[in-house]
Amino acid sequence: MSQKSTAFDTAVPRDYQHFFDGTPAAPRGGDMIERRNPANGQLTARFARGSRPDVDLAVASARRAFDTGPWPWMSGPERAAILRQVAAGIEAATQRLALIDSQESGKTLGTAQADLEGAMAHFRFAASLAETERSDAWTGAATDLTAYSVHEPVGVVALIIPWNFPALILAQKLAYALAAGCTVVAKPSEFTSGSALEIADICRRSGVPGGVVNVVTGFGPDVGMPLVSHPGVDAVSFTGSTVTGRAVAAAAGNGIKRVSLELGGKGANVVFADADLEQAADAAVFAAMVNNGECCVAGSRIIVERSVEKEFVDLLGERLERVVVGDPLDPSTDIGPMIHDGHLRKVLDYIERGRQGGATLACGGNRTAGGGREEGWYVEPTLFSGVQAGSAIFQEEIFGPVVTSTTFNTADEAVALANDTPYGLANAVWTSNVATALTTSRALRSGTVWVNTFLDGTPAIPFGGVRDSGFGRETGQEGLREFTALKTVQIRTGVRDYPIPSR
Ligand code: NDP
Repeated sequence: MSQKSTAFDTAVPRDYQHFFDGTPAAPRGGDMIERRNPANGQLTARFARGSRPDVDLAVASARRAFDTGPWPWMSGPERAAILRQVAAGIEAATQRLALIDSQESGKTLGTAQADLEGAMAHFRFAASLAETERSDAWTGAATDLTAYSVHEPVGVVALIIPWNFPALILAQKLAYALAAGCTVVAKPSEFTSGSALEIADICRRSGVPGGVVNVVTGFGPDVGMPLVSHPGVDAVSFTGSTVTGRAVAAAAGNGIKRVSLELGGKGANVVFADADLEQAADAAVFAAMVNNGECCVAGSRIIVERSVEKEFVDLLGERLERVVVGDPLDPSTDIGPMIHDGHLRKVLDYIERGRQGGATLACGGNRTAGGGREEGWYVEPTLFSGVQAGSAIFQEEIFGPVVTSTTFNTADEAVALANDTPYGLANAVWTSNVATALTTSRALRSGTVWVNTFLDGTPAIPFGGVRDSGFGRETGQEGLREFTALKTVQIRTGVRDYPIPSR
């Protein structure tokens, strides 16, 4: 199947419905949600406002596709071939999908394109997992007994997707769920549903049977909660805030459903005095500003050795002054607007609390205006130094272009500071000493530790958190396992004597 890139329609607003049984479906209630571009207030999309009856239809579609097949029964190579076609379909539609994600979320076009590169890589890697799937056999555990295990698809899976990486986080879940043989109901954020609906249609055109991928759009309480607590759903994979994650875990637990949670983070860049400070500063700015700072793995805390604090804060300040805030579609822009006005207020409120809490505002600190940006929800790249560990800007996920700096004197103090939040998603260590790298990375309580790098990785490397950042893993072989259930088959080839005589 050839999926060549073609000219595409850039007109807004784009109108979408739900996607069940391989076709668009109007919402039962008939209501729509309007999404305005956070860069300029322009109406960019209208999405179906779903409710419980829509969820029932979506789950019924996924349930039929799982229970009657053929998707769960297909061979790994057959599923892999289709997943590669999905990757090709995303590649052909990259420009359109990137524009959609950028206009709905405010992320720069460059970031949106990088997300889609990542999405394709996940489908291709998941394809390789599907065709190389294998399991264990026990051939000598008992006389005349041969046993083997099978990783079966867990069933119908609910995927709850946030607004910060609409296509990428969908792919991090969907590619692996499909590779495992599951069927899916995805609920994207009501702010950014366009790319999920387009990717569902790409799946259909790539040969994924109708009903295997369903998307129901709408608000969390109207659609998300009925979906995760639906008796027809077997497992839930959620990415979002810790607060919502707790409610999702409780609902899933009540239904004895498998659940994985990828929640917030408050990542630290621990910078020792012996590090390459220029490299560390480049990475720290990227880590804090990537995706407008609206990133669960953002390195939003600098924890720097006291002897180099001034030098390092100066290096950060110089770099942050050069970060270009503006129109996400302009190739020279580094960061775009916040997702919506409420979120802008939340970020500005944190900045105000930082000011009042006694931290030193080293740069930024304001909503930006001018340069054609008056209508967007923009914030200046902001750096606070001298930040106390107990303060809100050190402890809480700000989810904006705000970075804090705190000093340490000893390696133990550095680790204690880095671990002093409820989160445990990703941290980084900067040092030229191997022993410091090993001991510090071991002591940091997070699902990922990067050494002398930040936000690195490939689809083969699993990702996820500990503590309030959640549990379960995405991507890699472990990501596939979140969507499988282990069955053992035991075959007796001889005659067995039973303890209760029956003859
Ligand atoms: P939420 O956790 O509320 O939203 C994430 C997803 O869950 C969305 O699809 C949302 O739908 C859905 N949802 C909301 N309520 C429920 C519910 N009761 N049951 C099931 N699903 C639900 O995050 P927000 O968008 O409100 O963002 C708030 C904060 O969360 C951010 O400021 C940031 O700190 C953090 N966050 C972390 C993310 C991460 O990557 N770890 C991603 C996004 C946010 P809907 O959008 O329609 O309400």
